[in-house]
Amino acid sequence: MTGGLHLADIHHRFGDRQVISGLSLDVDDGEIVCLLGPSGCGKTTTLRLAAGLEELQSGSISVGAQQVAGKGIFVPPETRRIGLVPQDYALFPHLTVQGNIMFGLNSLNRREREERAATLLRQVGLAHLAGAYPHTLSGGEQQRVALARALAPEPRVMLMDEPFSGLDVTTRGAVRRTTRKILRARGVPTLIVTHDPGEALELADRIAVMRDGVIVQAGPPADIYQEPADSYVMELFGAPNRFSATVAAGKLDTPFGLIPAGSFDEGTAVNILFRADAVRLAGDDGDGGAVSAKVSSVRLRGATERAELALEKTGERLVMDRLHGSGLKKGDMVRLTVDLTAFHLFLAAD
Ligand code: ATP
Repeated sequence: MTGGLHLADIHHRFGDRQVISGLSLDVDDGEIVCLLGPSGCGKTTTLRLAAGLEELQSGSISVGAQQVAGKGIFVPPETRRIGLVPQDYALFPHLTVQGNIMFGLNSLNRREREERAATLLRQVGLAHLAGAYPHTLSGGEQQRVALARALAPEPRVMLMDEPFSGLDVTTRGAVRRTTRKILRARGVPTLIVTHDPGEALELADRIAVMRDGVIVQAGPPADIYQEPADSYVMELFGAPNRFSATVAAGKLDTPFGLIPAGSFDEGTAVNILFRADAVRLAGDDGDGGAVSAKVSSVRLRGATERAELALEKTGERLVMDRLHGSGLKKGDMVRLTVDLTAFHLFLAAD
């Protein structure tokens, strides 16, 4: 291992509550990794342990080849050379933007500090705000100052805690793209904590999905989305449709016909999950295996519309996303097909 952040077999408890249970995670050179999971699963604790703000109880943390925490080892936060962007940015209110960025650069002389700050300000597109105070900046500008301040001492690793959650929807996308561009340009390995699956898909080279203190799956965004390890990971990225069936003669009986049960044993209860865009109006792709359904609602969701439907025969509910303008409305009877390759099978106990 040459650079990056390496967490190995971390366990952590607060009082008698186990919060992290055997977590291992690598953020390699130049990589952006998103740690994704719901509130309370232990993401911020993981970040704080990596930064040295929380003392490690068990396991090992390395930055590059240097072990910074482990049995008998505790390198204090200020000498780990880890840049941290906290959720609230924590800018110094009495310092200007330039002052904030120059703050941690004590080893440089004044001219070098000014040059470093000017370069970063140009990079984050805020050169014109060098003399402004934090309270006069928008949320997106504050976020970029916090990013520049964390990058200024040339950290070996960057940690960002929900860096876009305080921004309004219109600013968020642009700030995310700028952040990714800057992190890329500087090549600094970065771990970003988020509970937003869309954000993780857009930002990450790899996503580590966390649940109850463990990583349940880690991999490139496309792998996590297309090959979820379990129903939890699948549902995190949106899979509102589910059938249940039991394997009989190697098949599963669904409202759309029999499908192969794959590697599941005879008699096993299986959940079949699929996304809303796998449901089509028959005629889009031909009529084979189409079933009748009644539209119970249609809602616009931006570029797409989402229809909720009830299958005529079984009453089971399905959700279908399609480009809007289809003219569907509540009460319509339609014929549906499903892209069977989009079915994901999981043990019903999952
Ligand atoms: P969120 O997205 O809501 O911040 P998270 O995934 O970052 O959630 P953590 O902040 O790491 O989760 O918290 C994990 C669990 O540990 C939570 O149940 C939290 O209440 C608990 N916890 C965190 N810090 C402490 C602490 N200092 N003392 C006691 N319990 C704590």
